[in-house]
Amino acid sequence: MNRAYNFNAGPGPIPSPVLEKAQKEMFNFEQSGAAVMELSHRSSLYEQIHFQALQQLRDILSVPDEFDILFLQGGATLQFSMTAQNFLSPDKKASFVLTGSWSEKALKEASAFGSTEVHASSADNNYRSIPDVHLKGLGDDTAYVHLTANNTIFGTQWPELPDRGSQPVIIDMSSDILSRSVPWDKVDLAYAGAQKNAGMAGVTLVFIRKSMIETGNSSLPPSISYKQHAAKDSLYHTPPTGAIYITKLVTDWILDLGGLPAIEKRAEEKAGILYRTIDQSNGFYKGHADKNARSLMNVTFRLPDEKLEKMFLEEASEKGFMGLNGHRSVGGCRASIYNAVPVEHVQALQELMDNFQRKHG
Ligand code: PMP
Repeated sequence: MNRAYNFNAGPGPIPSPVLEKAQKEMFNFEQSGAAVMELSHRSSLYEQIHFQALQQLRDILSVPDEFDILFLQGGATLQFSMTAQNFLSPDKKASFVLTGSWSEKALKEASAFGSTEVHASSADNNYRSIPDVHLKGLGDDTAYVHLTANNTIFGTQWPELPDRGSQPVIIDMSSDILSRSVPWDKVDLAYAGAQKNAGMAGVTLVFIRKSMIETGNSSLPPSISYKQHAAKDSLYHTPPTGAIYITKLVTDWILDLGGLPAIEKRAEEKAGILYRTIDQSNGFYKGHADKNARSLMNVTFRLPDEKLEKMFLEEASEKGFMGLNGHRSVGGCRASIYNAVPVEHVQALQELMDNFQRKHG
């Protein structure tokens, strides 16, 4: 099959077995005579997919019973403001830890609804690091604190999430959900667009502590109220059925691989290959992230100059690699190595990098 070496930052690759299964079932899902996307979202066939996807996400991530899992729309971006609309009251402020462009965007969207503050930031060093934060110091006038678990653009990731204080903790896990275990005791709400590790664009996963749902603003339109979506099992209105179906198939695939422990091992192996290539290149490849803040999902690096970067990206593209250019705001190169990227594709990238250095180093 003519599949690219796909290192896109999102939407990214979907595991081939998932696409094959979807292809096989496309015209006639379970003898229904229709595709999943052609079924009513109130049909028992669809509901089976919906609730199995929820259960399998819960199983894979060991989500405690105190949390609801929701399938919402509007991407992670809608969560930036939906969290504020639900939990930011006029007498309080939302506190943000800035670790990259997506945290900045989260702050901006929340600021449209109320007071916000920057609790800590690594903007001063162009987001190479994760700041040292102490959430226990936050006062009672803080409605919640917001973090970004993995910084897709800069290639940094919290090695460990910080210990919580008494305020709710909201975490954007868009680019590392389903790649490592989540310490649920440190989290009250986590959200992630599906299009990196959990399937295709169109559905947003939200994990929310039930006790937090109860504290939400009760005068919101129901469509943006977590309480409403939770009460209706994410079937308040038509959910993105096709995207949820793909998420369900992704959870099947993860379970077949051996669940989160197998995924974590693969992620470490893949990131290890690329970071070793960078570290052993005698400075030809330079990683953007500080070593203790390196992401296991997005590996960002530069070559000695922009001309070489252009040549490298051109050669990569000719050889069937996709998505290796860095985000336009950072430049350089970025290899996103989400769950669906096979180890062999990372090895092919390592070979490309080694050969390129041999020729031009
Ligand atoms: N947060 C992070 C960390 C992201 O990487 C992205 C998308 N790349 C977003 C938020 C925005 O997600 P969406 O496009 O689903 O709104």
